[in-house]
Amino acid sequence: MHTHCLGFELSQVEKPSIALTIDVEHLYCEDFESCILDIFQFLERRGISSTMFFLGRTVLDHPEILDEAHARGHEIGCHGFDHIPATASYPGEFKTKVKQSKEIIERSIGQSVIGFRSPNFSITNWLFPLLKTLGFKYDSSVYPCLPIFRWYGLRKAPPYPYHPSLGNPEEIDDAETFLEFPLAIIPDLRLPAGGGWWLRNLGPSYCLFSLSRLLRKGPAILYFHPWEFTEKLRSNIEEKDFGTAYKPSFMFRRTGAYVFRLIDRITKEFSPRFVTIKELVNCLAI
Ligand SMILES: [Zn+2]
Repeated sequence: MHTHCLGFELSQVEKPSIALTIDVEHLYCEDFESCILDIFQFLERRGISSTMFFLGRTVLDHPEILDEAHARGHEIGCHGFDHIPATASYPGEFKTKVKQSKEIIERSIGQSVIGFRSPNFSITNWLFPLLKTLGFKYDSSVYPCLPIFRWYGLRKAPPYPYHPSLGNPEEIDDAETFLEFPLAIIPDLRLPAGGGWWLRNLGPSYCLFSLSRLLRKGPAILYFHPWEFTEKLRSNIEEKDFGTAYKPSFMFRRTGAYVFRLIDRITKEFSPRFVTIKELVNCLAI
């Protein structure tokens, strides 16, 4: 039985390990399909298998993208249906949508989906029991950083994978089988370093410093979105199109080539083993 968070166990397997995850949603991209094909090709050239959390709505609009991701060996996870955060939903309606999304994905790939990434990293006390009931084995939505406005941030949560208390996502419960794979932070400072605005705007030094601290004791879970890999963003983004997924324009700086280069910098600096989260789950099950 593990008596603490599981970074140490995972660092013993092989280190450093980085899970590159992508929340696959067609929001914001001017040409979603060509953008995601560029990502597939980049990852293939680098020999990287990622974990891709698909939005149900994206799968319905672009079923061939899900099939392609699966055929290329990426782990397929679920990102909910329509990107409405758990914190803006009633448990019953959220459950119905996640169940629908999971079933759409599973029908298409012919395999069960074990991982979930919540829209906007939204976490509630009812989320983990709900996910477990639906057959998920892990969640990767806890951002164990200082709270960032009202977006996210569970500052007391462990910075490495752990078995969470189902009713309290910040607490460890060694008797629990469900797993949490929290997003990367700078452990002591509790600053976010998992992806998004932080990695694109604070410069490569911030990213490399963060990872050097985190990777000492366990794996790092990074997150990206398809639109971050392209400079061709929709110019007519409106809040009504995407519900609560709307973001102000400053969120969209340094997309495209910058992000590809950043992943290459990380690779050069740490020579990591890029793993899917499912591989980490399997390591822990041994
Ligand atoms: Zn998302």
